[in-house]
Amino acid sequence: MRSGGFPCRVDGCSAQFRVLDASSMESLLAASAERTAHEASTHGYTHPRPVDEPRRASPYIAKTKAKNA
Ligand SMILES: [Zn+2]
Repeated sequence: MRSGGFPCRVDGCSAQFRVLDASSMESLLAASAERTAHEASTHGYTHPRPVDEPRRASPYIAKTKAKNA
């Protein structure tokens, strides 16, 4: 089994931040926050935040509209 946790995202760094309880959202967030803090303090690295993708218009609605047009 692969070690559960978050690896440091900086190339060449093997730091891992263990998730104490993989079923706990709090543990996941805590490990993630720990890693982010490590990256920032140790490497001066800030991982870009994932951008929320804009919700796409439902293709079903688009089709229906096209038919009625
Ligand atoms: Zn690191």
